Amino acid sequence: MTVLVTGGAGYIGMHTVAELVAHGEPVVVVDDLSTGHWPAGLFDVPFYSLDIQDGEAVGTVMARHGVDAVVHFAAKSLVGESVRDPLLYYERNVAATAQLLRAMVRQGVRRMVFSSTAAVYGHPGRVPIQEDDPKQPVNPYGETKLAIERMLRWGGDAYGISAISLRYFNAAGAHPELPIGEDHRPETHLIPILMQVALGQREAVTIFGSDYDTPDGTCVRDYIHVMDLASAHRLALERLRRVDAGVEVYNLGTGSGHSVLEVVRVARSVTGHPIPVAFGPRRAGDPAVLVASPARAQAVLGWRPRYTGMEDMVSTAWRWHKSHPEGFGTAGGP
Ligand code: UDP
Repeated sequence: MTVLVTGGAGYIGMHTVAELVAHGEPVVVVDDLSTGHWPAGLFDVPFYSLDIQDGEAVGTVMARHGVDAVVHFAAKSLVGESVRDPLLYYERNVAATAQLLRAMVRQGVRRMVFSSTAAVYGHPGRVPIQEDDPKQPVNPYGETKLAIERMLRWGGDAYGISAISLRYFNAAGAHPELPIGEDHRPETHLIPILMQVALGQREAVTIFGSDYDTPDGTCVRDYIHVMDLASAHRLALERLRRVDAGVEVYNLGTGSGHSVLEVVRVARSVTGHPIPVAFGPRRAGDPAVLVASPARAQAVLGWRPRYTGMEDMVSTAWRWHKSHPEGFGTAGGP
């Protein structure tokens, strides 16, 4: 009963590996290292540098390790990049997942936890967003994640695959003890950018838009700690093994939102750095407010986020960035 984690060298994937290992779950990781970093020696789990489009090789890994479930993170995940190069997202997200599912069907592996996103909702008609609200993605990233959710639904019926899609809101923070955290090149996410300003690596943060219909004019997001995302994956796996769940989707957020300016204020207090801001134009495709209703995940998965305060998210992120100013490339390794 081994779990195959695809994209286990990425930010959320790696924290999920840490969570599964801490709970005694046998894990094997495949990642093509196109954007991830594998902290060699930190986890005692087999690692294969593989592209999931190589279904034969991935199938061999499944057979060799007795895999019974896949937690599927491997994907492209930048909204801006997806708008500039949508075919890349259809190839690397949709087509690659079809290859992975083929390998699963061939190997008789019938459980998948899938890494989805709040971007499937587009501009929400109401907040907090519930899972059955309309899905109208406004960029190819969200569109390809939704296409995969639908592929899982059809695949569930046709091949008897049970799947749980987890729609993340804004992942944030870092492992409270292990030397792992967020490291994207180039960095586009708010909290790591604030950490870079506090480290003196950037002059200021540009806030994308100050005239949104929100209390302070800046966008509101539902930030969710990466360790809480990780525990949701573990609970989803447990559910897939316990019941024939069919195909299910769950929002993962705290249910409360923070504006960009609120996050900046918390980052100033956690880091003790003044963190100058500049106001710039809106970023294309940014909805004003994205807040989850996590009620379904709480009721059905028994999920209870632990690190719900913005302080928890920023202080664990700061711990990682301060000790690893160059991310995984920092001298001395992870
Ligand atoms: N944001 C910002 N300046 C930045 C990066 C992000 O104002 O340099 C804002 C962005 O417009 C959004 C929020 O911060 O409202 C979170 O953005 P991020 O890119 O971290 O996550 P996303 O919401 O795209 O998943």
